[in-house]
Amino acid sequence: MRKARLVHEVGERGVIQCLARHVGAGRFVLRGIGDDSAVVRVPGSPYDWLFTTDPIIQGVHFLPDARPEHIGHKAAGRVLSDIAAMGGEPLYVFFNLVATPETSLDVLARIYDGATRLCQRWQAAILGGDVARGPRLELHAFGVGRVPQGTAVLRSGARPGDRLFVTGRLGGSILGHHLTFQPRVDEGRWLAAGRWATAMLDLSDGLASDLRRLMEESHVGAELVAEAIPIARAARRLDDHQSPLHHALCDGEDFELLFTVRPTRAARLVRLWRKKFPRVPLSEIGRIVPADPRQRDPVLLQGGQRWRLTEQGYEHFVK
Ligand SMILES: [Mg+2]
Repeated sequence: MRKARLVHEVGERGVIQCLARHVGAGRFVLRGIGDDSAVVRVPGSPYDWLFTTDPIIQGVHFLPDARPEHIGHKAAGRVLSDIAAMGGEPLYVFFNLVATPETSLDVLARIYDGATRLCQRWQAAILGGDVARGPRLELHAFGVGRVPQGTAVLRSGARPGDRLFVTGRLGGSILGHHLTFQPRVDEGRWLAAGRWATAMLDLSDGLASDLRRLMEESHVGAELVAEAIPIARAARRLDDHQSPLHHALCDGEDFELLFTVRPTRAARLVRLWRKKFPRVPLSEIGRIVPADPRQRDPVLLQGGQRWRLTEQGYEHFVK
């Protein structure tokens, strides 16, 4: 008899692939499992609707001493970031709250204040959710957003020749950025509205890992230029045996946007971006190349050498 594989043996990707085989088809669905948000086209609506959900769990996504406002900010920010990655406008957030009986109401109030403050930047509202008792604090967020019909940016639109761009600076988010990041909602909406981005996702597992997802969904390869990758100051401050570049490639929870642009439009994008978002760095970090069946990893070009970026980004479940 075949021994059932365990979660830690297949990683987050393997778990999702397994689950996807056990769900049915829905009506009006343009995109189900496999992107940052599901995309649904309700007949008669001028919009496509976006749905996404994400948990944060004490001890996994935040430590017990995290500021409650930051916990709420992070819980809401993760689903807002997934809506941003589709080019969407966030509208509603629901929270299922799991708390221990000893959790103080003051802490819960501060968590929801942090979430509300972030949501209000885009007039998104928290509409409710359920409350349950559990062994540790957990916040399960569910986000709803919309895009004008036909403008959602999927992970599957990249073509060979497209240029790869990333917002912000990467790495070292564990030093604090993972609790205070600003979801790139305005930037994502602008990229979608101008049809700049041909494929897009938000960086949650790490550049190397998330780029692989984009390659898989678009059936392409990708080359990164090491010198072009924007490294966060925190990635240089981390005091361990890994290089700042390694942190920028592999650390999770940057929540920046990674997207592709047709080569003929790349220079114009950079010019307009600087005017539109002068405080948000934008870096061209590589390009899309044809898929190579013998080489499914992203390639890193550094000092005339080519490195293969194997599965080393942050993956939940992998021991
Ligand atoms: Mg995402």
